[in-house]
Amino acid sequence: MRLKNKTALITGGSSGIGREAAILFAREGANVVLTDVNDEGGQETAAMIKAEGNEATYFHADVSKASDCEQMVAFAETTYGSLHVLFNNAGIMHSADDDAVSTEEAVWDLTMNINVKGVFFGCKYGIPALRRAGGGSIINTASFVALLGAATPQIAYTASKGAVLSMTRELAIIHAREAIRVNALCPGPLRTELLMKFLNTEEKKQRRLVHIPMGRFGEAREMAQAALYLASDESSYVTGTDFMVDGGITAAYVTPL
Ligand code: NAD
Repeated sequence: MRLKNKTALITGGSSGIGREAAILFAREGANVVLTDVNDEGGQETAAMIKAEGNEATYFHADVSKASDCEQMVAFAETTYGSLHVLFNNAGIMHSADDDAVSTEEAVWDLTMNINVKGVFFGCKYGIPALRRAGGGSIINTASFVALLGAATPQIAYTASKGAVLSMTRELAIIHAREAIRVNALCPGPLRTELLMKFLNTEEKKQRRLVHIPMGRFGEAREMAQAALYLASDESSYVTGTDFMVDGGITAAYVTPL
């Protein structure tokens, strides 16, 4: 049991990476608080975990709202006593996110509010709780697009993930002597709803696949496994990293045919 006696708070736990991480963390002994704005999906994740005999509770929280983030942390501490792992994972990729010329200001603001301010709020309220627990691990979901540009633009999303990555580094340095580790998980393109909604034709999918050395999209459960390593004490000397889990995409210049 790699997370025995630990409490983990996971945002965006109703689907994709968040759901898989919630299931896996609970299997590894954690008490899981999963939060989202999709209440139906969140309750479903909690029920799936309980059906396996493990521990999880769903709590409604919009990460772009300060009071929701304050309350989700308070809920985790009141329900399970203390907080050890904070997985700031919730994020959106807006279908109208495009290049700088055509992207609406509202799309930019919404993306930044959820993807960047959401991580800031998670840390703002989560770090004092981790301190009270004597330390802990924060994992922020960034993306491979924080390191690589693409000709199919999503200007707000890409900028938001760059911000998550640089914020993660700074947090890691600030809190390194408090036994609080902060790492960014950088997934490659995944076969989750978030990306498949964006790559909604076979042609668009193939255009992306050609750049992935492994020749396939990643799975949410493969990200959950990486997050588990960062959450557990096995990564006790790991902080401030950009942990690429991307099928080799960031290492590639030319991919195999
Ligand atoms: P997903 O859409 O399956 O999950 C994201 C979850 O976040 C959803 O349950 C959604 O309801 C929730 N959410 C959206 N807005 C929210 C808000 N304001 N407050 C709380 N929850 C909110 O997608 P996913 O692929 O599992 O994405 C998880 C993270 O991984 C995101 O940060 C995403 O940017 C990142 N990521 C995904 C990919 C990919 O290819 N899918 C690649 C790199 C990074």
